Amino acid sequence: MKIEHIREKIIATSLKMLSDQLTNGTAGNISIYDRSENLIAITPSGIPYSLLKPEDVSVVDLDGNLIEGKTPSSELEMHLMLYRNRNNINAVIHGHTKYSTAIACLRKNLPAIDYMIAVTGDKEVRCANYASYGTKELAENCFNTMRNSRACLLANHGITTAGEDIEIAYNVLTQVEYISSLYLLSSSVGEPVIIEDEEIYNMIERFKDYGKKIK
Ligand SMILES: [Zn+2]
Repeated sequence: MKIEHIREKIIATSLKMLSDQLTNGTAGNISIYDRSENLIAITPSGIPYSLLKPEDVSVVDLDGNLIEGKTPSSELEMHLMLYRNRNNINAVIHGHTKYSTAIACLRKNLPAIDYMIAVTGDKEVRCANYASYGTKELAENCFNTMRNSRACLLANHGITTAGEDIEIAYNVLTQVEYISSLYLLSSSVGEPVIIEDEEIYNMIERFKDYGKKIK
């Protein structure tokens, strides 16, 4: 079985998403790119996370050709586009998380109301225009909106995060979800104050070696 250790990581991350209540069981998808093997492991389409076995995990090449495993997630192209065009991205998570998706339903960007937004590498999390799920248009909207950030919202749909490794992508997902919940909560009693750009850019500098710190 090819890239077995990466398939195990996909399953471990899927189960963590379930226990952290970041998915309802099949929504969302996770991938990891092994650049040395030039292969990507991604959650398959339609199998509940709790039932996922290593042999089910889809293994594809950069063109999306299935090498081993079950039919890949319908959002495969969204993952591949990031890997093809950003050489520091090796893991992608797409989720239908409650609070960040609520912001995406407003089709608003998530502003810097908490300094931890700097983990995304940007001063806000932008919201991509709506497109049907599983389409190339959605993949393009996501890629173009994300630019050099590690996160982007998908209008009326969910969120996508990316990272140098799966731990970083996962941490960005949980931080953006938490900040989204703060934004909704504070907006319910007033207008949240947005932290100045300069302060966030300072934080981004301080987080440059962030990946090493969270391990
Ligand atoms: Zn989705």
